[in-house]
Amino acid sequence: MEADSKLGKLGKSGKSAATEAAATPRTSQQVAGWQAIGPGRREFQAPRRRLAERLAASGIRSRRVLDAFATVPRHLLIPEALRGDAYRDISLPIGDGQTISAPGTVAQMTEALELEGDETVLEIGTGSGYQAAILSKLVARVISIERVPRLAASARTSLDNLGVSNVVVHLGDGTAGRPVDAPFDAIIVTAGGPEIPMPLVEQLAERGRLVGPFGARGQQELVRIRHLTGGELTREVLGPCRFVDLLGTHGWAAA
Ligand code: SAH
Repeated sequence: MEADSKLGKLGKSGKSAATEAAATPRTSQQVAGWQAIGPGRREFQAPRRRLAERLAASGIRSRRVLDAFATVPRHLLIPEALRGDAYRDISLPIGDGQTISAPGTVAQMTEALELEGDETVLEIGTGSGYQAAILSKLVARVISIERVPRLAASARTSLDNLGVSNVVVHLGDGTAGRPVDAPFDAIIVTAGGPEIPMPLVEQLAERGRLVGPFGARGQQELVRIRHLTGGELTREVLGPCRFVDLLGTHGWAAA
């Protein structure tokens, strides 16, 4: 892990947007996690537990994060033909040229968000809904944005089938964030962009964390930004990674 480097202070516009949105009340019902896990709950229990054990052996330390991996049925969030591979630590195709990230990557990014339980998290790139389902077990509320209509619809259906009630999926360009729902305690970007989208940094709450892959196409660095009290930002590089493209106004240009 590289030493922190300062990114400087947030601009005025980011702060005022964040302050305005902070007045929006959060209802107690948004704080409920999911109750049931739905169909397939008993299937693949042993492989799922072994996956959590492998993640622990690979260095994931948070008990809450490991428990989420032992609970969320990844096999129900991928194409049926691939179910046998659901609990291997590999990324898998989910259609439209997109992939569900490998559990090890999802775990590393989730742990890097340092979640405690009462947060509102913004996710860019819903994809299969797996990362959102993991987050739903760990925080109060997840707002996830997906740009591909079919994936957004199918993730919504899968999450409903799992009984996940604290995740909202929006269709759109996530590189602009969701000013109406900001500020966010944590932001996770699950597609690789050329640089950190500024609107996302501006929508990060004080003491918030943003984690995502940024750099060249097909080869990025996993980066964590912290918004310190007082508006200062720090940046850490957590390691090399490889993600599908983040496409949009503050990402790569869509073809
Ligand atoms: N978190 C997902 C990973 C999906 S791969 C999971 O757990 O399965 C990355 C996703 O980001 C793809 O579905 C892709 O369509 C989406 N994406 C790319 N650019 C985006 C943007 N600007 N806004 C929202 N989603 C985007």
